[in-house]
Amino acid sequence: MTSSQIRQSFLDFFKSKQHTIVPSSSLMPDSPNLLFTNAGMNQFVPIFLGQKKADVSKWAGAVPSLDTRAADTQKCIRAGGKHNDLEDVGLDTYHHTFFEMLGNWSFGDYFKKEAIDWAWELVTEVWRFPKERLYATVYSPDKSLGDPSDFDQEAYDLWAAKFSAAGLDPKVHIVNGNKKDNFWMMGDTGPCGPCSELHVDLTPQGDTKGALVNKGTAECIEIWNLVFIQFNANPGGTFSPLPAKHVDTGMGFERVTSIMQGSHGFKDFANAKISNYETDIFRPIFDAIEKLSGKRYGSTLPKSGSTGDTEQEKVDVAFRVIADHIRTLSFSIADGIQPGNTDRNYVLRRILRRAVKYGRTLGFHEPFFYKLVDVLAETMGQVFPEIRERKQHVKDVIRSEEEAFNKTLDRGIELFNQEIAHVKPGHQLQGPFAFKLYDTYGFPLDLTELMARERGLAVDVAGFNLLMDEQKKRSQAAQKKEVISLSQIETTVPTKFIGFDQLQAKTKVLEVVGL
Ligand code: ATP
Ligand code: MG
Ligand code: MG
Ligand code: MG
Repeated sequence: MTSSQIRQSFLDFFKSKQHTIVPSSSLMPDSPNLLFTNAGMNQFVPIFLGQKKADVSKWAGAVPSLDTRAADTQKCIRAGGKHNDLEDVGLDTYHHTFFEMLGNWSFGDYFKKEAIDWAWELVTEVWRFPKERLYATVYSPDKSLGDPSDFDQEAYDLWAAKFSAAGLDPKVHIVNGNKKDNFWMMGDTGPCGPCSELHVDLTPQGDTKGALVNKGTAECIEIWNLVFIQFNANPGGTFSPLPAKHVDTGMGFERVTSIMQGSHGFKDFANAKISNYETDIFRPIFDAIEKLSGKRYGSTLPKSGSTGDTEQEKVDVAFRVIADHIRTLSFSIADGIQPGNTDRNYVLRRILRRAVKYGRTLGFHEPFFYKLVDVLAETMGQVFPEIRERKQHVKDVIRSEEEAFNKTLDRGIELFNQEIAHVKPGHQLQGPFAFKLYDTYGFPLDLTELMARERGLAVDVAGFNLLMDEQKKRSQAAQKKEVISLSQIETTVPTKFIGFDQLQAKTKVLEVVGL
């Protein structure tokens, strides 16, 4: 199946179960506690909290069925906050900063039985995943840690019936997990509850007996999380029951596609190449990078924790990072989130600068990143029309960000190389140096950390933060002064590009007085 067919078959399946198909919400979250939309359930929070009626069949663009059931594919970003996967990107094959989460919801309608029945039916009967490779996890609290709620016997029994009917031992195929893995929370506050997940054993023989579940390995990955929402997490760490019980599921679209396509329809796990990047979702982006760079993606993966020893490993990490990051940048900008100096905007700028830095590994010294937007508009524009409609704007924004960073990147890298020549192995890169790279050359701290890690070094983060705090205090003081002096000037001179992050305060003031 192509990825489009996989996405469509998910939606068709839930349509046949009377779900209303709703559009993805924006990556800009409604909740002030989130940096980006990080799960399919975000847009339904007011319904879970009982603040809004479940009337999804009347939503704009929805394909209506029942009011109390919804399904969709949701654009998600996990690069900051409670769910932050940025550091894994490029180094593994199944965590992205931007990904699509397929989901189905019940708003006070069906609960665990239907959720598990339908998950099993879709995965094993419609898509035909081999049952013996599936593992379900259930919530098993550790009361000594104060985990909320009780052991999820109901979910256990429902999964046990499925595995038993397939001639498989439920004791092997159901794995317990406590709050960390089996109690889902969107952030520190908000609707939440115990969850039950499906994991797939991807080893050549498929005989790990659940030992690799939730062990952070690509040989056994989580594809679907079924959350049974029944609590609200309050500020201060307490949990209150919600007015009704709900189902909230999230499935990794790229992961499911990687398994179905990489194993050639489950026929060959021994020679399988299962990676989100080895799918028709990422292949067109890789084709474009190959064409622009003249380099080839070689499917290598550096050893765990390393950023690549051989040239090809480094190139492959760069391919993955760049292909991941262009999706994050493009869809964010299309949803009105621009790279900038603070909050989520700075997260985007950091991600973009990482991509530009990785571009050097592929030999790019001129803006190249923005050129990849065309591929996304072409391959994803049908599902997310905003990327087509705002393509030129997205390209313009990325290009000017690239141009700005390119001006200082090479000099910063040169200084970095000079500096680390003096740092003894096992020692730290000094905080003041990391701050200089940030302040004068526009290097976000995490980029410096990443470069240092490539050389086996750590960065003195505390020293960096100290200088950062001092600078903030200085600029706050300066800001107060400048508002007074600038607001007395009347001018029609347009704003010019005035530099990098250190001018945060000035930029703000310029906005305030409308320059
Ligand atoms: P993992 O344990 O693999 O990090 P998770 O438990 O954090 O995943 P959930 O919050 O349960 O993920 O999200 C629901 C589903 O979304 C997951 O089962 C997975 O298939 C998918 N998913 C989660 N994070 C990512 C990501 N960073 N990139 C791609 N898919 C993801
Ligand atoms: Mg995770
Ligand atoms: Mg997990
Ligand atoms: Mg999960």
